[in-house]
Amino acid sequence: MSSDNPVAAVLLAAGGSSRFGQPKQLLEWEGRPLIAHLADVAWAAGLSPITVILGAEAERIAPVLAERSVRVLRNYRWAEGLGSSVALSVSVLMNSPAAVFLQVDQPFVTPHLLRALVSQWRNTIPRPGIVAPTWEERLGSPVLFDRMLFPELAQLAADVGGRALFKAHAEKILPYPVTDPLLLADADTPDVFAQLQSLRRDPAALLPSIRAVISDMDGVLWRGSSPLPGLRNFFVLLEEHGLDYMLVTNNANQSVAHYVEKLKHLGISTTPNHVLNSAEATGDYLAQHASPHATVYVVGGPGLREVLTHRGFVLTDGNTADYVVVGWNPTFTWEDMAKATLLIRQGARFIGTNPDRSFPLEKGLVPGAGAQLALLEAATDVAPFVIGKPEPVLYEQAIVRMRASPETTLVIGDRLDTDILGGLRLGMPTAMVLSGINSLEDVHRSPIHPDLIFDDLESLTAAWRTRLENR
Ligand SMILES: [Mg+2]
Repeated sequence: MSSDNPVAAVLLAAGGSSRFGQPKQLLEWEGRPLIAHLADVAWAAGLSPITVILGAEAERIAPVLAERSVRVLRNYRWAEGLGSSVALSVSVLMNSPAAVFLQVDQPFVTPHLLRALVSQWRNTIPRPGIVAPTWEERLGSPVLFDRMLFPELAQLAADVGGRALFKAHAEKILPYPVTDPLLLADADTPDVFAQLQSLRRDPAALLPSIRAVISDMDGVLWRGSSPLPGLRNFFVLLEEHGLDYMLVTNNANQSVAHYVEKLKHLGISTTPNHVLNSAEATGDYLAQHASPHATVYVVGGPGLREVLTHRGFVLTDGNTADYVVVGWNPTFTWEDMAKATLLIRQGARFIGTNPDRSFPLEKGLVPGAGAQLALLEAATDVAPFVIGKPEPVLYEQAIVRMRASPETTLVIGDRLDTDILGGLRLGMPTAMVLSGINSLEDVHRSPIHPDLIFDDLESLTAAWRTRLENR
């Protein structure tokens, strides 16, 4: 068991709901049952595996989880109390270095909050036994427990929860102060639930507070060589309101200059400092993290090579290297594959520009950079460190370049599993446009919930303008 393994999630949902007249787990939140919503939040945060503990009315509740990647455990002793559910869950956590315990009645918990608990735990040495969110110094839920405390959780008396460990291990608790108490609110009674529902903010109300934008390009600004509706008005709005922007793409093959030129053809004038692709972000990442004399073996196109040599890295022929950097390469050969495999096995750091497994051509989908990464991962048993979305580096660099902050930077994209998921993980507001890859049906089926959904840039721009002018 490695501490690099993913942190698990346990969703405690066994309790009865006598005060609600129906299982609390099935109350509707954002168009889905509360329990499904919480499972989706845990999934979007990257927690794995996700275990859901059911008890009361399990037969009624289990079907709503059927299409989600969770495992369901049934606690027949649920009526004895929460401790019995916690103890039961520990029996399936043996490969997890830590677990976050969520309550089913906390609808405002976000993927970003869960990731914050995990990164607090990962980045603190020695590792804290407990990471708990706090508001005005009161410890709240969800709570992360390090595996050092699993044996004690397994021994909990049925009628006490994991919080019983707080007193015994006060010195092992790392508090994580939150900036919004609503994140930790729990719906104990129907009245409180109704109150929380009314507090569920009108999502479009966030638009006037936005100061910067990170937008995807293909499927948002254009499709093929045609501009999508609203392109010009969108840039007019940004300009009028002094909103900064970065146009980002996972595609590492086309240079920044190519995109500036393409926009010019579509009637939009911009400059290279507003465009970031995963090759540039990879170059910036290495410039920040590698020694200036580090050697790099590149499996990728000429654009990626140029970006790295421009930053002063020595590119090698593959006999020795500190880094193996892999981008999309249509001339990828067995020889390249063997060199990269040997270097990674000798300890070179394995970096991928972007995780996209396929790449659209006229004739259909062909292997993308992610397919090359999967191949090398299979050959080396080493997972790559990936720069592109939904991993955080590309967006983080876009934020840094704008000197913006995540909470007031709107992510705009047409793909749920890259554009939108990347934003949710960083705690950024997200707007989905339906002019590209994913349809409204995809959105309803997906565990990834964008804050806002629009047909296209045109309707996003119109809604945004209305909000700005009526504030
Ligand atoms: Mg796109």
